[in-house]
Amino acid sequence: MSSTVAVVGAGAAGAAAAYALRDSPVDVTVFEKSGGVCGRAATRRASGCTYEYGANYLKSDDERVSELVTEELSTDGLVDVTEPVWTFDDDGKVSEGEETNDQMWTYESGLTQLAKRLFAATDASVHRHTQVETLVRDDETWRVVDDEGDDRGTFDALVLTPPAPQTADLLGQAEWEHGDCRDLRKSIAQVPFRTVISIVLHYPFELDVPYYALVNEGEGEGHDVGWVAREECKTGHVPDGESLLLVQMAPDWSAEYYHQPAPSIVDAAAEKTAALLDDERLDTPDWTDHQHWRYALPNGGPAVGALDDATEHDLFFAGDWVAGDARLHAAVRSGLETGDAVADHF
Ligand SMILES: Cc1cc2nc3c(=O)[nH]c(=O)nc-3n(C[C@H](O)[C@H](O)[C@H](O)COP(=O)(O)OP(=O)(O)OC[C@H]3O[C@@H](n4cnc5c(N)ncnc54)[C@H](O)[C@@H]3O)c2cc1C
Repeated sequence: MSSTVAVVGAGAAGAAAAYALRDSPVDVTVFEKSGGVCGRAATRRASGCTYEYGANYLKSDDERVSELVTEELSTDGLVDVTEPVWTFDDDGKVSEGEETNDQMWTYESGLTQLAKRLFAATDASVHRHTQVETLVRDDETWRVVDDEGDDRGTFDALVLTPPAPQTADLLGQAEWEHGDCRDLRKSIAQVPFRTVISIVLHYPFELDVPYYALVNEGEGEGHDVGWVAREECKTGHVPDGESLLLVQMAPDWSAEYYHQPAPSIVDAAAEKTAALLDDERLDTPDWTDHQHWRYALPNGGPAVGALDDATEHDLFFAGDWVAGDARLHAAVRSGLETGDAVADHF
């Protein structure tokens, strides 16, 4: 009989873990609380536009992940953003960025394609709209219970991929009487996460600027805006003659204004963006969208070796925070490595 594995979270890490297990004699079941896959690498469609309001692109910083995307998965609709990223300082002074050869990939129909294509290569069953609430350690197995109290099955191993604070909560609520549970929870809860509010600003005209995006070179610590990107630089995302700006507010600003009414946050973002790009037309977008990411980006990871004891309890972790790098390619790499480790475990 094949072994069974439950993966909590259908983000990039969960999808990559399932993908790495595709040729193993392991039955993979994935539980995802939201209605879609790819987690913080999220795509939305509105008024003929496609835009990424979480991760903006996948960078070619990891050879294994680059190979996966360009050689193993279908490259249909894979696009590279070729316009450069420029910088701005804390006073809003814009400068030409350093040239790099890095690729910034997305798909014409959006980054969520990454998780969709990974899952499509597997036999994993993916249960969306299923929030895992309680993990029960019975003898040598893990029982998964959802937030409605329904038993979702018993598994030989468990892979947890939610952001560290949510993974720590799952361990805190687990019915698992073992000292390692408390130690793991404590180590994971110590991984700090930054908050980011993403604002989408649409305009019925094209912008004439030489860059794809502007990034605050102080990593968003001294300016209220952290990042502004032009979605029209991604093939297939924005109709000709229009502009769609994706603005990520700096973590300090995002945390401070997190509970303010959305219209005031959007107005503030438009005003600050207009000032930064020195274009007063940007103060009045014709439509907007927004997303609050409480757990947006990990600042580092758990202490070296802190998660090692979990394996003897058939428990595994994957995600950007496990890699200690707030990047989509790091999440994918972590998922692939965790999938490999699960395969070796049986
Ligand atoms: C605003 C923003 C901008 C970013 N920009 C970039 C960028 O340009 N380039 C880049 O490389 N990276 C970027 N990142 C980071 C990138 O998005 C992440 O590193 C990556 O998506 C993390 O993937 P993951 O699978 O580790 O976690 P997630 O994507 O968070 O996946 C975890 C999944 O678990 C689910 N989940 C949580 N709790 C439960 C539960 N109890 N039961 C069931 N499911 C649950 C969640 O719904 C989610 O789908 C950005 C992130 C944000 C938020």
